[in-house]
Amino acid sequence: MDDCLFCKIVRGEIPSFKVYEDEEVLAFMDIFPITKGHLLIIPKKHYKDLLSMESKVSEAIVSAGKKIGEKIISELSFEGFNFSSNQGKAAGQEVFHVHFHLIPRKTGDGLKGWPNKEANMKEIEKIAEILKQ
Ligand code: AMP
Ligand code: ZN
Repeated sequence: MDDCLFCKIVRGEIPSFKVYEDEEVLAFMDIFPITKGHLLIIPKKHYKDLLSMESKVSEAIVSAGKKIGEKIISELSFEGFNFSSNQGKAAGQEVFHVHFHLIPRKTGDGLKGWPNKEANMKEIEKIAEILKQ
């Protein structure tokens, strides 16, 4: 895609701090990090979002995520990481070339997770029934 920011990074037209690359996948540092070491893992091929991405690509992405995640823990002394993708505007997706955030974590780093909501078992069960079908 000519005007896609991340395709431009793949082609080297925009500078990036690359940390990993193979035939299918590229990983580079996020320039507005949520925690130190926050990086992005993308397929080199353009898919606008997770739902458009061919499932077979996910293996290469998860495999890269595991390799980099191990280093984040062993070399940078983090204790864990979040690994996720925002699907759609409502979920916070701003760049429409699918990407996975790898966000290094330490106990007490102050980064809040999702808020706990009240457990409504009837509603939870109803939604599970819809999704099961
Ligand atoms: P999302 O909100 O899930 O679409 O995430 C897009 C991410 O891309 C954000 O975390 C941005 O900080 C990051 N980002 C935007 N432009 C660049 C860039 N040129 N190089 C690296 N990361 C970027
Ligand atoms: Zn792209």
